[in-house]
Amino acid sequence: PSTMSEKEAALAAVPSDSPTIFDRIINKEIPANVVFEDDKVLAFRDISPQAPTHILIIPKVKDGLTGLSKAEERHCEILGQLLYTAKVVAKQEGLEDGFRIVINDGPKACQSVYHIHVHLIGGRQMNWPPG
Ligand code: C5P
Repeated sequence: PSTMSEKEAALAAVPSDSPTIFDRIINKEIPANVVFEDDKVLAFRDISPQAPTHILIIPKVKDGLTGLSKAEERHCEILGQLLYTAKVVAKQEGLEDGFRIVINDGPKACQSVYHIHVHLIGGRQMNWPPG
């Protein structure tokens, strides 16, 4: 079915370019379990983990990247850094046997925070197709 279930609708948020909870994590206004940080990206453990390892990798500056669907050519470098950081953190987490990368985009993917983020998920067997 193409319509969202009530649960999915509750999870999803209205798309917006307003500041999000992730800005407050970047600015250290609220605590996060940070596993990697450099001048451009921040990686921290998801507050509601869906697997033994569940980490979010985000750009410190959003620059209009509410989600992947808003990407412009100027974002290519940061997009590459997000994915490369996922690889570095996967290794740091010991995910030698595999891991999954997810980017939810928009209501139909149940995106809930409109500041682009890469989910790094691992530590258990993943299934396909995803839910
Ligand atoms: O892809 P989506 O937008 O749904 O992912 C947002 C993620 O941010 C969720 O997995 C949620 O658990 C996580 N989150 C978090 N800390 C917060 C708010 C949301 O880790 N304070």
